[in-house]
Amino acid sequence: DTVLWWLRRDLRLEDNPALRLALNGDRRVVPVFILDPTLMARPAEKRQAFLFAGLRALDADLRDRGSRLVVREGPPVEVLAHLSAESGASAVYAEEDISPYARRRDAQAAAALTLRLVTGATVFPAGQVRKADGSPYTVFTPYSKAWKALPFPGAPQPAPARLPAVPDALTSLPIPTTPAPADFPAGEAEANRRLGAFLDERIAAYADTRDRMDLEGTSALSPYLRFGMLSARKAAWAALESARLAPHPQARRGAETWLNELIWREFYHAILYAFPFVMQTAFNPGLRGVPWRNAPAELEAWQQGRTGYPVVDAAMRQLAATGWMHNRARMIVASFLTKDLLINWQAGERWFMRNLVDGDPAANNGGWQWAAGTGTDAAPYFRIFNPSLQSAKFDPQGVYIRRWLPELARASLAGLHDPNHLTPGERRAANYPPPIVDHAAARERALRLYRPT
Ligand code: FAD
Repeated sequence: DTVLWWLRRDLRLEDNPALRLALNGDRRVVPVFILDPTLMARPAEKRQAFLFAGLRALDADLRDRGSRLVVREGPPVEVLAHLSAESGASAVYAEEDISPYARRRDAQAAAALTLRLVTGATVFPAGQVRKADGSPYTVFTPYSKAWKALPFPGAPQPAPARLPAVPDALTSLPIPTTPAPADFPAGEAEANRRLGAFLDERIAAYADTRDRMDLEGTSALSPYLRFGMLSARKAAWAALESARLAPHPQARRGAETWLNELIWREFYHAILYAFPFVMQTAFNPGLRGVPWRNAPAELEAWQQGRTGYPVVDAAMRQLAATGWMHNRARMIVASFLTKDLLINWQAGERWFMRNLVDGDPAANNGGWQWAAGTGTDAAPYFRIFNPSLQSAKFDPQGVYIRRWLPELARASLAGLHDPNHLTPGERRAANYPPPIVDHAAARERALRLYRPT
């Protein structure tokens, strides 16, 4: 019997439930990745480059085990039907993906073929962690309590040592050779190396260092989790084990805090699954009428890192240079766009999706709606970050700002944190713009206009 293993965002052999299920009963498994024109047309150069490099790494891992990746291009349902006929496959196995586009695509595939979907992008199925009455949680803390109260679904499963050969007759397109973004070599081996280094060196201090933009306190695993080069269950298992074996309370707190972040990821998956409309509009109906400003020049200044607020600009330059941004920085720039500039969070959401290597519909939408105050929190619309205070607190020596805004390397620390303290001379020498808004006035404006109905 032959079956297809349709990979989408689970580019790994270890702890891969779709692969295990496909292999069940000694079947011949054909691993297939489809270049879907609809997805490939979305502008996301760095993420695509990371994906292609991940496919090359996966193909190499498959070949080490006697298999190989079959890459095809076209509308997925057509490609699968064609490949099933070509290979004599009786079924298609895949990891469930809960984005609205993925659900439509998979419903079409299920109507045309025998499609078996299995949970793997998150520890628990997106619809499983629910209130006693079966309704979805809309607030993180009770969700995370319920998540932790469920029995953990066991230790991660090792990669199969050997895989069945793929018949020579099944042709494969070449995988584009665009190199992965420099800071994110792709593939499962690299994901595991990073996880190991994080567990050995940084998780113990994570609770204290995670918010510091100047330190490498976080795991930088998000792109790997995004494409399933690292199993979410393996990451969560590692966090639980780290907490259990922690040598001191601070280390345990570090591991528990990291687990909490992984649960945020699951929470936003659950939100998108239960409320797919968040891709179109505010989660909170009372905040659908905010009079967003149409301010293309200010939006562009934000995108290019030319707002005149060094912490905002440093973060936007980090994004442009690397395809990644520190979580604290994401919150700062998102608050700045939506509160200080009063520009619709959806413009920020789009810019992030275009530029992030880890760009993920659920996490990105959740992060933007959280920052805009239109999301799942109770009533945080009046939370407006003060960029200068954020900067002083989470980049106390200005190391992060100087790194990403080298033109300000010689400015005073006070000026790095608060643009009002940059002297005209410093600004001129650096060709650095004056602030595009005054934070205090912008804050008043946001509080006036950002009223829930
Ligand atoms: P760590 O601190 O090591 O956390 C471990 C993992 O937990 C991360 O890799 C990530 O998978 C998950 N995680 C951590 N924080 C969050 C969170 N708040 N929400 C959801 N998952 C989380 N994350 C994405 O993966 N993709 C996105 O497109 C994305 N967009 C965001 C947009 C905004 C406006 C904000 C405020 C946050 C966004 N995040 C997004 C969440 C978070 O910023 C990143 O996951 C994190 O910075 C990745 O760095 P790390 O791997 O070192 O995280």
